[in-house]
Amino acid sequence: MAMKLRVGQPQDRPRWQKILRTIGLVLVSVLLILAADAAVRVHRAADGIPVLNYHQINNQDVNSLTVRTDQFEAQMKYLADNGYHAITPEDLVDAWENGTELPDKPVIITFDDGYIDNYKNAYPILQKYNLKATIFLISDFIGTYPNYMTWDEALEMQQSGLIDFEGHTLSHPELSKLSDEDLKHQLEDSKAAIEYRLQKKVSFLAYPCGDYTQRVQNAAKDAGYRAAFTVHLGYAEKDAPRYKLDRVPIFGDNTHTFERFKYRMKFAPAWVPYDDLKKTVTQSDYSFFARFIVSP
Ligand SMILES: [Zn+2]
Repeated sequence: MAMKLRVGQPQDRPRWQKILRTIGLVLVSVLLILAADAAVRVHRAADGIPVLNYHQINNQDVNSLTVRTDQFEAQMKYLADNGYHAITPEDLVDAWENGTELPDKPVIITFDDGYIDNYKNAYPILQKYNLKATIFLISDFIGTYPNYMTWDEALEMQQSGLIDFEGHTLSHPELSKLSDEDLKHQLEDSKAAIEYRLQKKVSFLAYPCGDYTQRVQNAAKDAGYRAAFTVHLGYAEKDAPRYKLDRVPIFGDNTHTFERFKYRMKFAPAWVPYDDLKKTVTQSDYSFFARFIVSP
């Protein structure tokens, strides 16, 4: 018996080696195809602009919308040290529509909602690195709730020339669920409120919760916005529908380390399919498997 086994082993080994080699070749081929696909997507999006999307910047809240202040500073320092130029949505759409020139390595820094910590924590850092940013305001919440900035704080930031304010509706509803009348009210009256309070033209919209349909996009256009932003991962691209511009969400699970930020910002187009798949699986009955889908 022992003799037979010993004789059998050397004959088995080449068969296993063959199977392992085949598995290895298949894996390497799949990885090469995925890498090539990612490279093509990054190349195609070469003219796209990263529109970073933040919410809260502080060290107290442990929720998926919050980036720690030191992490935010490291991210802004990286932009400043690496020749990025922060522009506004207006600069971008002017360049697309009128051909005005953009600086090298343009990036748009946005914050949704209008939290008080944008004023207390983010604004000093933006001043330190001389970076422009856009804050999309929920106009009814400004000066109403303690965790939101006041109109005076918004005005002070606007007067610095660094901070631009745009629209994020009156009260943050899911726009796709509203009647035509309520939709118009949310879009038009919040725009008018910010224009009255800050004495500036409001031309851009961020959809609350990234919720939009074709009807919502049409309503945004009718309300007088020039363009609107989603929370779907990707670069804002000239060829994209103007009321469906992608951003690079820097939120999700409160672990926005510097490396994650860099991978998302620099290679967003490469991660889009994985991010979409992860979102789909997360919302399905098989959410457990979402943790195995790699997307920074
Ligand atoms: Zn929001």
